[in-house]
Amino acid sequence: MSDFDVDLFVIGAGSGGVRAARIAAGYGAKVMIAEEYRVGGTCVIRGCVPKKLMVYASRFRDEFEEAAGFGWTLSEPRFEWATLMRNLHKEVDRLEGIYRANLEKVGVDVVDSRAVIIDPHTVRLLKTGEEIRARYILIAVGAHPVMGPPIPGGELGITSNEVFHLKEQPRRLLVVGGGYIAVEFAGVFAGLGSEVTLLHRGNKLLRGFDEDIRDALGAAYVQRGIDVLLERTIQRLDRNPDGIAATLSDGSVVTVDQVLVATGRRPNTANLGLENVGVSVDEVGAVIVDGYSQTIVPSIYAVGDVTNRANLTPIAIREGHAFADTVFGDRPTMVDHDLIPTAVFSTPEIGVIGCGEAAARERFGDVEIYYTTFRPMKATLSGSQDRVLMKLVVDKATDKVVGVHIMSPDAGEMIQLAGIAVTMGATKADFDRTVAVHPTAAEELVTMR
Ligand code: NDP
Repeated sequence: MSDFDVDLFVIGAGSGGVRAARIAAGYGAKVMIAEEYRVGGTCVIRGCVPKKLMVYASRFRDEFEEAAGFGWTLSEPRFEWATLMRNLHKEVDRLEGIYRANLEKVGVDVVDSRAVIIDPHTVRLLKTGEEIRARYILIAVGAHPVMGPPIPGGELGITSNEVFHLKEQPRRLLVVGGGYIAVEFAGVFAGLGSEVTLLHRGNKLLRGFDEDIRDALGAAYVQRGIDVLLERTIQRLDRNPDGIAATLSDGSVVTVDQVLVATGRRPNTANLGLENVGVSVDEVGAVIVDGYSQTIVPSIYAVGDVTNRANLTPIAIREGHAFADTVFGDRPTMVDHDLIPTAVFSTPEIGVIGCGEAAARERFGDVEIYYTTFRPMKATLSGSQDRVLMKLVVDKATDKVVGVHIMSPDAGEMIQLAGIAVTMGATKADFDRTVAVHPTAAEELVTMR
């Protein structure tokens, strides 16, 4: 008789936890997964999925305007926030149902409760007080948005968690931050017709990205009418009859209807019982794990945003899968965090894999840069002022393409495919001998000289 109730207890039914649970169950493990909120986690419930639906919604404005140059006449388009929200939440509900059904199909026991760790093999369900003995425990509890240092009136701001539940579209929106979330929502609300101010403490948006991409996005946002305020912070928020007045560090005041704070996220490690077992966390509260996602306690592993390695859904899924292969599939698997293709769903969109120019110079020494910027063909008739930017970073010693940087419509789609080539170790000569698909924007990737 086993001493354990289950082979695996997963805390958190987001992308990483769900994948780990399903794969472990597929290997024959008895698995229980606990979720205190909704199955699907950040990505499905309050992140990638509803965000992307909002991005789609926001881009129709451009399409409507651009249609005229191609001969279409449209009556004045009208956007209704309530319809978008209703449809968006219907889709989120549908996906949550699928996630649950998929877990149940492979025999995973889904428990709607918060769970805390009691000892290296015991978890307590807070809803019932029941204690479950598990051979292994997987922490996959994700992260939450943080608001930065407290400021007077800070409670008037909202985070990306609340943005999907606004009753009305803000007519004027202040977005604070210059990372993925700030940039994406600034683009969304500008597209939906809100007056958007984007406030960032740095001198350019998207720190860590290639400088040319950072410059190009900043210019594109200004050109699209977003008021980009750099090298400033927010000092206080006050509600007044006209809305929320944000006082900035330069003394100026911006009055808006909503303030969306997107100044980063922190792992959900508080009150999880980690201190009961001695699982160590770093300075931001992230669980410290080795290459196999194992913590200092041999029976406890952690995957996804709670480990703060690369906070992206596909990485959490990979880590969850690799954990299950390692522990239950007898196939020790590490996740390579080096080459990660990623997209920022700004408008215009950004797709990136590998090193930016400066990082590549540091890492490889001698690099060659191929760069092009142009107005896409569609713009000739549509009148759009958006420009496409493409940049290849090539390691001179090996001719390998070590960085691809794209700002373009569909850059996310493009980088997924370019990512295969780069992951395979494609050289610039391989790009050159690839026949162009004409006429496309992506063909420039193989025609740059
Ligand atoms: P990021 O870490 O990407 O960006 C945080 C931003 O807030 C930075 O611009 C940062 O400035 C700024 N900031 C941090 N602290 C303060 C402060 N005290 N005052 C003023 N500004 C501050 O976090 P996000 O919240 O945007 O996103 C979290 C993560 O989620 C991302 O890193 C990404 O991994 C993931 N994500 C991925 C998406 C995708 O794949 N499309 C979409 C959304 C999220 P500075 O640059 O100066 O540090």
